[in-house]
Amino acid sequence: MAIISSGGTAAPGPAGPRRTASPRPGSVDPGGVCAGSLVNPVARPDEEPVHREDGLRPRRLADYIGQSELKQVLRIAVEATRSREEALDHVLLYGPPGLGKTTMALVLAEELGVRCRITSAPALERPRDIVGLLVNLQPREVLFIDEIHRLNRVAEEILYPAMEDFRLDLTVGKGTTARTRSLALAPFTLVGATTRAGSLSSPLRDRFGLIQRLEFYGQGDLEAIVQRAAGLLHLALQPCAAAEVARRCRGTPRIANRLLRRVRDVAAVGGHGRIDAALVDEALALHRVDGRGLDASDRRLLSLMVEAYGGGPVGLETLAAGLGEDPATLEAVVEPFLLQLGFLQRTPRGRIVTPAGRAHLDGPAAVAA
Ligand code: ADP
Repeated sequence: MAIISSGGTAAPGPAGPRRTASPRPGSVDPGGVCAGSLVNPVARPDEEPVHREDGLRPRRLADYIGQSELKQVLRIAVEATRSREEALDHVLLYGPPGLGKTTMALVLAEELGVRCRITSAPALERPRDIVGLLVNLQPREVLFIDEIHRLNRVAEEILYPAMEDFRLDLTVGKGTTARTRSLALAPFTLVGATTRAGSLSSPLRDRFGLIQRLEFYGQGDLEAIVQRAAGLLHLALQPCAAAEVARRCRGTPRIANRLLRRVRDVAAVGGHGRIDAALVDEALALHRVDGRGLDASDRRLLSLMVEAYGGGPVGLETLAAGLGEDPATLEAVVEPFLLQLGFLQRTPRGRIVTPAGRAHLDGPAAVAA
């Protein structure tokens, strides 16, 4: 399978789609205070380049660990499509960053035996960016658009007939001489990814035949992901060490892989052969990632809420201002895992720290912020 990464006018290359995006409203801005954190689930520039063949991304459905419901739905859809020799229905994948949306788009193309063209909505600013991509698609190819909730109106309207009838409606000329011309496109599959399904316009959402949510991964799946990555990185990892990385990676494969690389550094410098749980603990304490995967910015958020607001309720904007963080980043990147752990609650009156959140701050699993 060939992978083509398009960044609109930006130079293609290993930088990939995310690097062409500039932060704008509605985006998950990887900047801000938590940007440098080891447990920030947003990909860093040049992390996981899609072109690199020695990467950790699973290539086939059989290597894609966890998300069993998603895999089952897509396996059936792929098999049915292959037997009918048609393009797969358009797929919308949504869920927090780092859970495997891009990976799944690449896996789908591999399973279908076609190329995957990769871009992200912010790179499709001008009509000709998306038109250029669409007219160059070959039959049954996959077009992956990351952060699809950030598409502008014009790009969306070009996509509607393209998705529905594989047709491009072009306006030629101006004013009274303007005419609409239609151009047939090759049947293709659009795979859209978003962290904010609610921000998608309903006409766009309605044009996806398959809409699937990615969930945070459970401990068992994460251990398997860590062991698989350790194998690819030629690391000898004791099962207890894999379990320790899995416990601290916030249910997110991208973070699991990142933590594993930091553990590998400490093991290499210390000349350790087989990696055990104590070494994982030593490596991750160095980066202030605690026993449940919280880092300094998570603990600062919980402490601010407890110390300055009596545990809440407190509004998102107030918290963001207090932490010097962007509210959208706080909501999309920091909060989901704290909500998942049951350390934080969202209520109509604001955010509240739960008793479990308070206990964690005071407990032995936390490290000093
Ligand atoms: P997203 O697009 O949702 O932000 P990615 O697809 O880029 O996430 O995944 C981030 C990294 O996590 C990938 O490079 C891959 O190595 C790893 N990964 C994601 N999902 C899985 C999975 N199910 N099994 C193994 N590794 C995975």
